[in-house]
Amino acid sequence: MNKPYEFPDATGHFGPYGGTFVSETLVHALEELKSVYAHYQNDPEFLAEFESELKHFVGRPSPVYHAKRWSDLVGGAQIYFKREDLNHTGAHKVNNCIGQAMLAKRMGKLRVIAETGAGQHGVATATVAARYGMKCVVYMGQEDVARQAQNVFRMKLLGAEVIPVSSGSKTLKDALNEAMRDWVTNVEDTFYIIGTVAGPHPYPMLVRDFQSVIGRECIQQMPLMVGKQPDYVLACVGGGSNAMGIFHPYLNVDGVQLVGVEAAGEGIETGKHAASLSAGTPGVLHGNRTYLLQSDDGQIIETHSVSAGLDYPGVGPEHAWLKDSGRAQYVGVTDAEALEAFHQCCRIEGIIPALESSHALAHAAKLAKTLPKDKVILVNLSGRGDKDMHTVARQSGAEFYCHPDCKTGAEMACNKK
Ligand SMILES: *Cc1c(COP(=O)(O)O)cnc(C)c1O
Repeated sequence: MNKPYEFPDATGHFGPYGGTFVSETLVHALEELKSVYAHYQNDPEFLAEFESELKHFVGRPSPVYHAKRWSDLVGGAQIYFKREDLNHTGAHKVNNCIGQAMLAKRMGKLRVIAETGAGQHGVATATVAARYGMKCVVYMGQEDVARQAQNVFRMKLLGAEVIPVSSGSKTLKDALNEAMRDWVTNVEDTFYIIGTVAGPHPYPMLVRDFQSVIGRECIQQMPLMVGKQPDYVLACVGGGSNAMGIFHPYLNVDGVQLVGVEAAGEGIETGKHAASLSAGTPGVLHGNRTYLLQSDDGQIIETHSVSAGLDYPGVGPEHAWLKDSGRAQYVGVTDAEALEAFHQCCRIEGIIPALESSHALAHAAKLAKTLPKDKVILVNLSGRGDKDMHTVARQSGAEFYCHPDCKTGAEMACNKK
């Protein structure tokens, strides 16, 4: 890009995307958030506290790691991981939750709410609320409450109230609507912590800014470790926050190709996927204009991915803009491809990656094969896979927990009934 990258504009637009599509009652709250953020975003004391929290509570900086054995096996370019899986709570989401909770504290709002699908954002929010002594309410679709019992238990241990949402499809988008409703009602004392680079302005911008610590660290780490910046930067894209976090500092660095990896589920052609950028069309959802998976008459289509964290029918508006402008490229990876990369990473590198991150890994392997050995691919390993044990076991026809009457005893992935 020739001119400096300055998005969003003052009205929260990334080209034709983004903006503020909300009810009248929230306009004031968003204006307030905008002006509070404008004040603190360059405030040395705020930034110093953020950095200190990331260092002492999250354990940053997260390392960059050379996946040498896997690179050798795949053949071709060298693959490096940015280890967001090593963060406290096991993923990148906590970076953003700390930033927003620090804003909430300064606004005197001691009640925070969040919506969650798989439960990862709920756990990160509950963690940070406990750390700051805030009341925390998490909205979660009833289906997801049942599917993600362990994360629900974690949130409760951390002191959060989890409210099951039984409207609509009883999943993430219904939880989002309910969280919005709560916010409208309790806007005086409540801060809504959004978990990805979506929602109305200024959320896509501030979530991106908080997550950009990922890319800023890489810009320092890569020359020290490899002697240059990477040729490619890859990240999985659900809402798009870990991808924006690693992409953003690289937007103005020439010669670095940015690739977002979406969930192609059972294959784009089957319709069972969550690839909003690859297969969607522009529309308005959850307060902003972006690419969506929708029918011809604008109904949101049900999505599918083996990884719950990528299972969202929209995507952050900045990605829509990066796609249209050509600065980033977006590709799809299927459930099966992601699972294969997951197992390879476990066995060859000794790292159990999140299923979300495994999508980026799968594309890294495909890409590496086509490149010479001196090329460098940096993959954002957005989280660890401990949370995915049940899903992975079920994919191989097993149950994670052994039935009490089962005689094989030590078998962990046991399917005896
Ligand atoms: C939630 C989650 C994602 C997807 O969210 P983005 O906003 O697209 O980053 C990816 N990886 C992990 C580990 C997650 O928990």
